Amino acid sequence: MTPELTPAEQAALTSGSDFWRTTPAESAGIPAITLTDGPHGVRLQASDGDMLTGRPATCFPPAVATASTWDPALLRRMGEALGDECRAMDVAVLLGPGVNLKRSPLGGRNFEYFSEDPLLAGVLATEWVRGLQSRNVGASLKHFAVNSQETDRMRVSADVDERTLREMYLRAFQRVVTQARPWTVMCAYNKINGVYASQHRWLLTQVLRDEWGYDGVVVSDWGAVSDRCAAVAAGLDLTMPGPDDAGDQELVAATAEGRLDPTPLATAAGRVRALVERAAARQPGSYDPDAHHALAREIAGRAIVLLKNDGALLPLPGQGQSIAVLGEFARTPRYQGGGSSQMTPTRLDDALTAITAATSGPVRFAPGYSLGAEAPDQALLAEAAELARTSDIALVFAGSLHETEGADRDGIELPGAHRQLIERVAAANPATVVVLSNGAVLRTKPWDTSVPALVEGWLLGQASGSAIADVLFGRVNPSGRLAETIPVKLEDHPSYLDFPGENSHVRYGEGVHVGYRGFDAREQEVAYPFGFGLSYTTFGYGEATAVATNNGIEVRIPVTNTGSRDGREVVQVYVSLPGSKVRRAPRELKAFAAVPIPAGETAEVTLTVARGDLAYWDTRLGRWVVEDGDYHCAVGASSRDLRATAVVRVPGDDARIPLTPDATVAEWFADPRGTELLTQAFAAAGGDGPVARLIANPELMSFIGSLPLRRMTAFPGSPLTPELLEKLVAAANG
Ligand code: BGC
Repeated sequence: MTPELTPAEQAALTSGSDFWRTTPAESAGIPAITLTDGPHGVRLQASDGDMLTGRPATCFPPAVATASTWDPALLRRMGEALGDECRAMDVAVLLGPGVNLKRSPLGGRNFEYFSEDPLLAGVLATEWVRGLQSRNVGASLKHFAVNSQETDRMRVSADVDERTLREMYLRAFQRVVTQARPWTVMCAYNKINGVYASQHRWLLTQVLRDEWGYDGVVVSDWGAVSDRCAAVAAGLDLTMPGPDDAGDQELVAATAEGRLDPTPLATAAGRVRALVERAAARQPGSYDPDAHHALAREIAGRAIVLLKNDGALLPLPGQGQSIAVLGEFARTPRYQGGGSSQMTPTRLDDALTAITAATSGPVRFAPGYSLGAEAPDQALLAEAAELARTSDIALVFAGSLHETEGADRDGIELPGAHRQLIERVAAANPATVVVLSNGAVLRTKPWDTSVPALVEGWLLGQASGSAIADVLFGRVNPSGRLAETIPVKLEDHPSYLDFPGENSHVRYGEGVHVGYRGFDAREQEVAYPFGFGLSYTTFGYGEATAVATNNGIEVRIPVTNTGSRDGREVVQVYVSLPGSKVRRAPRELKAFAAVPIPAGETAEVTLTVARGDLAYWDTRLGRWVVEDGDYHCAVGASSRDLRATAVVRVPGDDARIPLTPDATVAEWFADPRGTELLTQAFAAAGGDGPVARLIANPELMSFIGSLPLRRMTAFPGSPLTPELLEKLVAAANG
């Protein structure tokens, strides 16, 4: 029998004892546990003063890169490896993954998030959580919710309509919570429609627990609690960091004085206690840093996206060519972003060393720019251009200077020094390859037209350099795909006019049309579309077939590797419903698979679209609705490279909207029962009065269709009296 905790003990248990540890309750035998960042490596602080680094651990690729693999199985292996490292470091909960949507390319933490698409983010994060938790280490799904910007992040209200919330900003959370059951969910700093996430009862209790069945711990983001009593009442369990003596005392006083129902506090303490008990099942462990480095390299190689490869310049032969490696990033890699996820790697591979090792030809290096410098240095540029001119191949390493938690980016342009380096080198040597390192999209137009090959290297973690060499020399055949659209220019982006808001409010004006959904809806040109990525081989698609099942749609398609190298194709299914009752994007990603296919062979690929993923959120009914209709399942290699389409009829949910006095004439007539009742009622009333004549005339119908039926009772000579209307409403919904 576990001893009961006093209110003071309950309050203490629900706030931290320091930055990373919970408070123990010794009388009840509850020890403290450690939570730490996350998400792409274990950042366990060596001492209290050490905010930025931590003990060495494997720095895996951040989410911007892992998302580009489109491979849930890889994410699972990464989660397992992280779990092993947590066990080796006595960490109970790793603070990740982050599944906030990349609403704007300017988002300062885009490198920590997966995608602009909630299905891709949710599927990948689900496997990451499953992998981690298979080691008895808990995840912390963050930042719940609508935390898609850093500007004013501790106060800003994300003002977003419910359909957009449900379909876009909550959907990845819903998937991970219901499918992987993370031990903890971390509430965000920001407000949602005016209410702090940490105090949002609808979010933390109604949606998360009552609708999604969540029974784990809701932990605050570090410092996200503004009013402890309001937070506990709303469903927050654990306030971090601690100690929060004043908050603990206020909770005790508020319950004693009847200002706060004691039940939520007792419940929160019970949940924290259950978390600690769960964590106790974790056995200490160890890990092999070399094996984890090799895994980090494998994932990084799979994350690289080949954007352009004119004349099959890549892969490089590895012999008989002189190579100029240009750009400081080749020697000093950018491999992770700034803020709470920044950690100390066990080692670090740079591209210059890896390239030198991969080729027997001569390799010469010039920095081209100074680290951190925006402005071009003419002497460095001239040196690099000269090296390029006198080499067979020029490899230019360029990218963004910095991305960090806490600040959004101020643009998507390359730094001037990097852009000039690319232009000077490309002018000096037509065989120029650009390798980018960046945590969020960079503008590539128009400079990419002057280079034949472009490699998107994101931030790739500690094995970054060797993974880049693997792709450049063809040891890895690239299969990464864009998890976010690269626009022609920032101004084209659907979020452009409403990011990052002002006066502590940001309006999610583009609604459900986030990322590629918005570009496609406006038929806008993009530089590189969502889902895009080249390979050193080619793939051909056969005929697609689709059948409706009880669980959704099963799509089948043969995909053939038509080239001469083994490769991996990311097969993508985009679904649309022409004639939908609600405004939808022209196509939405609903299934995908990363399929290895040997050269010359054909894979029969089966992809399942879950029925629930076809649904839209109906704001009138307050629930998900699958519409009846012919769903178009387009299968292809990117959102704009659709190779085959199969159409399948899917029976809809019963989604009848009750007919009310305020339902319009058109709504009454759109409903078979409504039509029958009104026709009978008007016929019984003589049928040739002015109102009946109006209704019988199809042209006039469009004129009066928007009239709420109730208003008709006031019309002179109307056969519709208030009493009759009342009877009709009862009969229509009975
Ligand atoms: C970040 C979280 C992080 C926490 C602990 C916060 O500032 O938003 O993502 O897990 O700090 O470091």
